[in-house]
Amino acid sequence: MKKFKIAVLKGDGIGPEIVDATLRVLEKVAELYGVEFSFQEGLIGGIAIDKTGDPLPDETLELCKSSDAVLLGAVGGPKWDDLPTHKRPEKGLLRIRKELDLFANLRPAKVWEPLIDSSPLKPEVVKGTDMLVVRELTGDVYYGEPRGIFEENGKRVGVNTMKYSEDEIRRVVRKAFEIARKRRKKLTSVDKSNVLEVSGLWKEIVEEEKKNFPDVELEHLYVDNCAMQIVRRPSTFDVIVTGNIFGDILSDEAGVVVGSLGMLPSASVGEKYALYEPVHGSAPDIAGKGIANPIATILSASMMLKYSFSMDDAADLLERAVEEVLRKGYRTPDIYSEGCKKVGTKEMTDKIIETLEELKG
Ligand code: NAD
Repeated sequence: MKKFKIAVLKGDGIGPEIVDATLRVLEKVAELYGVEFSFQEGLIGGIAIDKTGDPLPDETLELCKSSDAVLLGAVGGPKWDDLPTHKRPEKGLLRIRKELDLFANLRPAKVWEPLIDSSPLKPEVVKGTDMLVVRELTGDVYYGEPRGIFEENGKRVGVNTMKYSEDEIRRVVRKAFEIARKRRKKLTSVDKSNVLEVSGLWKEIVEEEKKNFPDVELEHLYVDNCAMQIVRRPSTFDVIVTGNIFGDILSDEAGVVVGSLGMLPSASVGEKYALYEPVHGSAPDIAGKGIANPIATILSASMMLKYSFSMDDAADLLERAVEEVLRKGYRTPDIYSEGCKKVGTKEMTDKIIETLEELKG
C-alpha cells in the first residue's frame, strides 16, 4: 500500500475548522483508493507565537521537510495585529515559502457551473473557464537589489529592481510546461518584452524550453493585453506562466473572474517540497461559528493528490464531487443564493464525502 506523510499546519481563525474538514475528506480518499495518509501536526502563525514565541518554530520546518507534502489552513488575526512586522503570524508564511524554496505558485481559476452567476462577467463569457496561473514566487522586483529610498540632488527617489537570472526563469517555465502537459496542453507566457530587457530574457528562455515540450501549444502575450483577454475570453486560457509581480496581479484578476474567495485553492511548489493552502485568509469574523466554506481547502488537497502524489483520478473525482454537491444546491453562507440549501462546514463536508463514495461506485 502506498503511504504518504502529510504535514498539517492548521494555523489560526477558521484554519483548524477547514483543515479538519479536509482531513476527513482525505481519509475517505485513502479508503476509496487504497492508500495511506499519515497526518502530523505542526504549529504556524499566531498560535505558534502564543505557544513558542516564533511564528514558524524549527520543529514545524523540520516536520515539513520530512513530509511528502504540507497542508496549511491560514494564519493571522486581530490578536497579533499590533506585533512588530518581523514577529507577526504572516512572517511564518513568508519564511516557510522561502525555507522550502517554493518558487512556483499555482492558482487555478475554474468556473463552477452551479455558481456561474456569482461571476461579475456574463455567463456566456465565463462559461467553461478553467485556467491555472503559474506565478514565479521568489524573484523579480520584490527581491531585486538595489532597493530603497535614496537621495538624489536633494530629492528622494524610490528604487526597486526587476531582476531574473536565467536559471530562475527556466525552472518555473519548465514547471509550467509540465503542468500544461498534464492539462489541456496550452501555455501562455506573459511578459512586457516590448519595453523590459528582463522580459526579453524571459521570452528567450520560454522559447528554448518549448523545444522540450513540442506537444504543448505556446502563445506569448504582453501583460497589459493578457489582463484584457482574461476578462474578454477567459475560457480560452489553460496555463499562464509569468513573473512574480505580473502573476500577483493576474492571479487575483483570474480569481475574481470566477467568483468566490471561499472556492479558490492554491499550491506553492519547488523542486523538493510542496505546500497546499486556500487563497483566503483566516476569516476571524466567522471563526468558531461552524460556517466557514471548506471547499477552497478541500480543492487544495485535490491539487496535492494530483501534483504531489500523482493521484490524478482521485483529484478529478474530488473535483467532480464538489461540483455535484453544488449542483444539488448545498451552499455555505458565503456562496449562498436564494432557493439553495444553507449548510455549515460540517454538513458541506459530509455531503462531499457522501458524493465521493457515490461517484466512486
Ligand atoms: P480573509 O480572506 O480572511 O477574509 C475576507 C472575507 O472573506 C471575510 O469576510 C471572511 O469571513 C470571508 N471568508 C474568507 N474565507 C472564507 C471561507 N473559507 N468561508 C467563508 N467566508 C470566508 O481576509 P482578511 O479579512 O483580509 O484577513 C484576515 C486575516 O487573515 C488577517 O490577519 C490577514 O493577515 C490574514 N490572511 C492570511 C492569509 C493566509 O494565511 N494565506 C491570506 C490572507 C489574509
